[in-house]
Amino acid sequence: MSDKQEKQIIVDFRTNQSSGSQLCEYLTGMRPNNPNIMERLSTDRKLVLERYELPDDELLKKDPLEFENKLRQRAKDSNIDVLEDDRLTGFLKENMVAGVFHSQDVTTEIIIDRTNEKTLVKSLKTFRHELLHGLQYIIDPTMSIEQSEYEAHVANLNEEYLRKHPKDIELIFFQFLMGGSILKDYKLVSKGAEVERQPVWRDPKWWLKNVDKIEE
Ligand SMILES: [Zn+2]
Repeated sequence: MSDKQEKQIIVDFRTNQSSGSQLCEYLTGMRPNNPNIMERLSTDRKLVLERYELPDDELLKKDPLEFENKLRQRAKDSNIDVLEDDRLTGFLKENMVAGVFHSQDVTTEIIIDRTNEKTLVKSLKTFRHELLHGLQYIIDPTMSIEQSEYEAHVANLNEEYLRKHPKDIELIFFQFLMGGSILKDYKLVSKGAEVERQPVWRDPKWWLKNVDKIEE
């Protein structure tokens, strides 16, 4: 195969690469079909929970209330105020999100749905996700949007499901869940700005220039 043909294959790949695959490669250096990707996510999940001293899913399954207590204690120890019930600001409803961390006043806004075990577990995972953003803000306020959402989502990784449905690593985990959060974050930081901020990894030209070292 000629150099020109080889180049064209790379250009074609970058032009058609899905946003889930772009995001996966941007954050891990691996593409979602890499046989080692699940191990990488699994390792990162454990590392993130350790780094931020957050409770594991084992406890969530065994004793959700104890898991909740641990999250509340962690928030309290870090002076992150948890807004609920009559202290909710309306932000969640307005932005159609399940929870949020507000950096300006170091608060986390959440709704714990205690209808049944399933809704409770889902709410507590959202709580852990938002609390993690709060802890990131305290420990490393300059962290990129991509890295911060990666950590918050990988902490909630559903390993059992993804091992059975490996295609969903790209589609559900990176594209839908994490991509959705990241694009929302970009919209928020662009509010009021003259030029809308855009993630570099969405642009095939960025990959060709910086990763593949191909100048068109
Ligand atoms: Zn998030």
